[in-house]
Amino acid sequence: MESVNFVAALVELAHADQQLQKLVSQIQQYEHIKQELIIKKNDLNNTLLQASAHKNQLIKNVAVIELDLKVTDEHYKKIDTKLEHTSSAKEYQSLRAEKETLRAKRVKLDEQLLDAWTVRDEYEVSFAQIKKESEEEITTLDQNLESINAQITTARSQVNHAQEFVAKKYTLVPEQLAEEYKRMRASIDNPVVPIIDNACGGCSSYLTTQDLAALHAKRIINCKYCFRFLYTPDHLTSV
Ligand SMILES: [Zn+2]
Repeated sequence: MESVNFVAALVELAHADQQLQKLVSQIQQYEHIKQELIIKKNDLNNTLLQASAHKNQLIKNVAVIELDLKVTDEHYKKIDTKLEHTSSAKEYQSLRAEKETLRAKRVKLDEQLLDAWTVRDEYEVSFAQIKKESEEEITTLDQNLESINAQITTARSQVNHAQEFVAKKYTLVPEQLAEEYKRMRASIDNPVVPIIDNACGGCSSYLTTQDLAALHAKRIINCKYCFRFLYTPDHLTSV
């Protein structure tokens, strides 16, 4: 059992340690928010990439039909020229049939081209809207990321200070007590608790008369059930 002089030091150590843990979990929350922002930003960038690829595909579709139409047209003109110069009836029939096939193909391609243009033009309007909205959202996300990064930097520097503060508090507690505290701290968040209505502030077990007498005598005692260090406010005010 340690004397009263160390009760306040132990309580201060526990308090500093709690502050440190709060900051550490605050950073974890910030990091979590940051990851979510990054995921959102990546999703938006992917959406934008896919939309852009889709738009390019629609432009390409138009170009393919236009090329096919140009080739068909040239072929059609050639057949027409041949028709004007042929003297063979058999060849004439064959050329007429070919010309008819090409004409039908051209009608079909014209229709396809009109559809492809419509689809392309309509998507270009949607794409402009998607692009505008995504870019705006990305700008907002970037601002939020910048702000969360600043908060993380600040919190990290606060953690460094808190760690130094805890280390300093450790030196004010006798080594054996510090070791015991450290060991308990590894498994529970609050190894030092006040007594509340004659019960342990950690597990709510009632203290024995003997324990209460020891506390009254300003000794450090441990709860018999949860082993936490116990203190009374008297311990602190008397130091
Ligand atoms: Zn207890």
